[in-house]
Amino acid sequence: MTMMPSIGILGGGQLGKMLIHAAKKIDQSMQVAIYDASLDACAREESDSFTFGSFDDEKLLQHFAQTVDIVTYEFENISPDVVATLPNAIQGSKALKVLQNRILEKEFINSLPGIKSIPYTVVEKNFRYSFPFIVKTTTLGYDGKGQHIIRDDEDLRHVHLHMVAETYLENLKEYSMIIARNKNGELTHYPTFENVHVNQILDTTNFANIDKNLEEQMFHKAKEIAQALDYYGVLTVEFFYADNQLYVNEVAPRVHNSGHITLNAANVSQFDLHIYSLIGMEYPQIEVDKSWCMVNVLGQHYNAIKKSSIPGIFYDYRKNSTQYNRKVGHINGLLKNREQLKEVRDR
Ligand code: ADP
Ligand code: MG
Repeated sequence: MTMMPSIGILGGGQLGKMLIHAAKKIDQSMQVAIYDASLDACAREESDSFTFGSFDDEKLLQHFAQTVDIVTYEFENISPDVVATLPNAIQGSKALKVLQNRILEKEFINSLPGIKSIPYTVVEKNFRYSFPFIVKTTTLGYDGKGQHIIRDDEDLRHVHLHMVAETYLENLKEYSMIIARNKNGELTHYPTFENVHVNQILDTTNFANIDKNLEEQMFHKAKEIAQALDYYGVLTVEFFYADNQLYVNEVAPRVHNSGHITLNAANVSQFDLHIYSLIGMEYPQIEVDKSWCMVNVLGQHYNAIKKSSIPGIFYDYRKNSTQYNRKVGHINGLLKNREQLKEVRDR
């Protein structure tokens, strides 16, 4: 029997937790260590060991990396300079450096041939932009945090220097393309996901019903992005589609909320694929069942979901608090039951 490599995950949120499940499914003996800056990290309870430390603590991060065979990260806000010193961090540090800052991210996207972001500018003195637009903090944003839609003069109080201001696209379609790339030169991807956001937070995901050509374009762009970032592992590209134009919204160097549907709708989940990428296991041919959908569950939905029987599978992240607008779980169910799932959740 060959020994499975041990894995250390920087970040212990729900993504870390689902990565632990994937590793254990491949081989129960695979050891998974978690590093997080919060003692409450929800992946902690299922980890084989837990290190509590700041993501700025270079020494402790290096020590953690030395205790495992492979290091991965499940969120973006880790010092790329520290990650660059970890030889076993397979994803590399370039993706972190570029993607944790919205300005660098957009400059990078627009530097690639045939790939573009939504029109944007950085807020400076005497800033003017036509309504409606959306402002976003340059760093540390997620689930719409640090964002404001600006529709009129009254809203301008939310605009601050150095924020990114983007044209706000009404009636856009949102898609994500999740790909995986490994060091053996393999590359694979799921079909395109269609995502609906409510209040800038992902609400539901289903398989997009789009023409092959548009899907090919998204795959091609995601591949170019992963290659340009020297990235290995699962990578997600969020797209906006409006007026026949395809824009890259964001790139996540990790598994993604829209990929949670693959836990049931695919023969291999995004978490499995990420672990396969890290340990160099050959990718299987991806097969999906497009009749599934995913419905997110936020803090305010938790009680209704817990006490109801639902036509779906509830993945409870078992977070230590159920804060308003914080993701606490998701439901995978059949697309035909989506409205019913939402109705129960929103009670
Ligand atoms: P986050 O890092 O919070 O995911 P995003 O930039 O992806 O930030 O924005 C979150 C969501 O807000 C998007 O998925 C989309 O629904 C909405 N949004 C963001 N920017 C725009 C825009 N320029 N036009 C229209 N909707 C937008
Ligand atoms: Mg986003």
